[in-house]
Amino acid sequence: MKAGFVALVGRPNVGKSTLLNHLVGQKISITSRRPQTTRHRIHGIKTTEAGQAVYVDTPGIHASEKRAMNRYLNKTAGSALGDVDLVVWLIDRAGWLPEDELVLKRIKAAGVPVILAINKIDRLEDKDALLPFLQQAAASHNFAAMIPFSALKGTNLETLDRTIMDLLPEGDPIFPEDQVTDRSMRFMAAEIVREKLLRALGQEVPHAITVEIEQFRQDGALTRISALIWVERPGQKAIVIGKQGEVLKKVGERARHDLERMLEGKVFLQLWVKVKEGWSDDERALRSLGYAD
Ligand code: GDP
Ligand code: MG
Repeated sequence: MKAGFVALVGRPNVGKSTLLNHLVGQKISITSRRPQTTRHRIHGIKTTEAGQAVYVDTPGIHASEKRAMNRYLNKTAGSALGDVDLVVWLIDRAGWLPEDELVLKRIKAAGVPVILAINKIDRLEDKDALLPFLQQAAASHNFAAMIPFSALKGTNLETLDRTIMDLLPEGDPIFPEDQVTDRSMRFMAAEIVREKLLRALGQEVPHAITVEIEQFRQDGALTRISALIWVERPGQKAIVIGKQGEVLKKVGERARHDLERMLEGKVFLQLWVKVKEGWSDDERALRSLGYAD
């Protein structure tokens, strides 16, 4: 049997969380087009006859460390590289950016085998266009494998899956076979609400949003969940609520739908919006909202 930890790294928005969900075959990590969708380190566990891969989803590595939130995200992404057996480095088929150099530097320092995984090839019309890029990549590091794929469409996922298992060390399963994540239902609930918010809102708000679960209680067959949505300014609160509450209503309906699927039962979900000024640039506020090491 094979067993080990696999870090999914790369700059924001390359598709790390989408890949994790497809590899594990279940929604573990939230995804959206917005940067900073993944803020925490999350394990997604996949057990097959061949062995167990424990995927570590990470926030993207951010070029700027000016804000406390970005420093937190980089620390989380960087520390994930510390004790893994394998790294899957995702890049976008669109090419190599300065942020990618930054990731490569950290990967080299970690000194573990690296699979270079080129995502979003469904958007690529001419597959030959990848060749010069692959050559450039091969010259910059001795990769264990280079695999073009699409996390969204599933193209080449089997190859990626098999290569990952091949490269893992021999060992006994680290987690029980039926476990798919290391995170609590409470944590997952907060993340699902945040995902629906990110997807429903425009550019201006997402950075300023966090979700705190105030109540998570079993009431017979019903799960009662009450969530606080924190924003930084009164104007953002108005945007999150929407005209006659329509944005918040839509977010609540979508979140409840996902929660009921995850919990396999009825959910009563209440959402509240509150303002806490400057929380994303305040180390103490970050800690009190669960962004701690
Ligand atoms: P992360 O920040 O690296 O975790 O990226 P996400 O997994 O959140 O994905 C960012 C965006 O890219 C989402 O809108 C995904 O739907 C999209 N995406 C991910 N993989 C693919 C892919 O293979 N093809 C296309 N076209 N879009 C993708
Ligand atoms: Mg992510």
